Amino acid sequence: MLWTGSATGGQGSAIDRTPDRVDRLSQWLDAVEQHEPGAADDALLRVASWDRMTLWRVWVDAGTIVSLVRDEDLVVVVDPGILSEPALLTDALAGHGLTVGDVTHVFVTHHHLDHTRNVGMFPTARVVDVDSVYDGSLWLDHEGDGHHLTADVSVIETPGHAQECAALVVRTDDGTVVLTHAWWFADMTPVQDPLAWDQDALERSRERILGIADIVVPGHGPAFRPARPTTESSGPGGGGNG
Ligand SMILES: [Zn+2]
Ligand SMILES: [Zn+2]
Repeated sequence: MLWTGSATGGQGSAIDRTPDRVDRLSQWLDAVEQHEPGAADDALLRVASWDRMTLWRVWVDAGTIVSLVRDEDLVVVVDPGILSEPALLTDALAGHGLTVGDVTHVFVTHHHLDHTRNVGMFPTARVVDVDSVYDGSLWLDHEGDGHHLTADVSVIETPGHAQECAALVVRTDDGTVVLTHAWWFADMTPVQDPLAWDQDALERSRERILGIADIVVPGHGPAFRPARPTTESSGPGGGGNG
C-alpha cells in the first residue's frame, strides 16, 4: 500500500506531499475512536461503536455500489466499481436480460478508481462524468449541471467528496432517486468525509441532494430514504433513531 516509487524513474523525492490514504486512514480511525459524544451526530456515534478492526475493513474493502438505470432505450451502469470478480457484474446484468453490449452509458460519480476501474468492461458504452461524454475515442463536453440523458435521467454537479463529483438524478414512479457519493453508507456516514476534497462543498451538495431525493444510493452501501429536511436550519431536533 505504501508508495515505493515508480519504475519509470520519476523523481518525486522532493515533493511536498499531502496526506495520503494511509495517513488519512489513521487520522480517521483516531478521530472516530476519540470522538466525544455530542449533539446531532447519531450517525457518527454508530460508526464510533464499531471496533478498530471493523473500521479498518470498511476502509480497505472498497465494496462499491454498482447500479443499473434503465429508461426508454437508455441502459446505464452507474459506477462499475472495483470487483473481486467481473462475473459479479455480468451475471447481475444477465439477471436483467442484458449483456455488456446492451449497456448504452456508464456514469461515474467521480474519478476514484474504486468506482471507475471497470469502465473498460463496456467498450461500446458512452462514459459520462460531471462535464464530459467519452464516446469511443472522442472526449466531448456536455452542459454539466442539468445535463439530461433522458427526460427523467439527469446529471447534477455535487462537488465535495471529490472536486469532480456528480450525481445521477432519476425520476421514477417511486420518487426521485439520487445516485451519489455524498455519503458512503446508508446511515449517512461518514459525517466528516475522511477523503473529502472540500467538506464545506460536500455539505452544500448534501443539502441540495436532500432537497430533491426520495431515495439515495450512496457510494458503498444500500439505498436509503433520507428524512425530509426541515425548512429552517434547525438544531439536532428529534434525535430519531434513523
Ligand atoms: Zn471516492
Ligand atoms: Zn468510494
